[in-house]
Amino acid sequence: MDKLKILHMYPAMLDLYGDSGNVEILSYRCKMRGIEVEVSKHDLGDKETDFTQYDIVYLGGGADFEQQLLADDLLALKDKVKEAYESGVYFLMICGGYQLMGQYYKDSNDKKIPGLGLFDYYTVASTNKRERCIGNIVVETELDGEKYKVIGFENHGGQTDNVTTPFGKVLAGNGNKFESSTEGYTEKNVTATYLHGPLLSKNPKLADHIISYCMERKTGEKYVPKEINDKLENDCRKQLFDRLLKN
Ligand code: GLN
Repeated sequence: MDKLKILHMYPAMLDLYGDSGNVEILSYRCKMRGIEVEVSKHDLGDKETDFTQYDIVYLGGGADFEQQLLADDLLALKDKVKEAYESGVYFLMICGGYQLMGQYYKDSNDKKIPGLGLFDYYTVASTNKRERCIGNIVVETELDGEKYKVIGFENHGGQTDNVTTPFGKVLAGNGNKFESSTEGYTEKNVTATYLHGPLLSKNPKLADHIISYCMERKTGEKYVPKEINDKLENDCRKQLFDRLLKN
């Protein structure tokens, strides 16, 4: 049986609005296809983590305080994380996790938290703590050559700039900045987004896209995941589109 290995980074510190659910959803959808899943954790102070042995590295969202607390630990891992990313391990990152993989995050206290510098983007939060992008958001992305609407909830003070390859086009909500036209960051083995929800509960196709990528990387063959009954998810999506998109 195939086995997919997920590394959940700082699960207790980076977990806003049910972000850990993304790991559960990936696990559930794998199991429904007969793929065994092993979830491991990287916590503050862990020295032995070998990032290259995983298929997916996952970081959830976190408040400024937690981001500050874990920044040194993360920075010390820079070379190992970079090696995994360059070898094609899939990186899924939400909000605070997304910010920390860029050049830096300047938080609402004007404190600069250095990022891992894996990507060119950088993020600056307003020092007015009330100025935040909050609310439901719909983004149009492209998955395996097809357009797909991704729904979520955003709540961030950080305004992200210098994004070369955004995850999607904003159809409703803010995105990378106040009233931005783009949201998140993407590469073939990267999805970085501001969307909580958890993200994958409302967007099952994105979960399957990630699983397919990992299976194809493992086996070298095209992987088409078996259909799962997503009636509940699709009914929920339809209701949200009706509510959030005007046309
Ligand atoms: N602390 C960051 C910000 O406010 C990230 C918040 C989050 O992960 N929701 O921009």
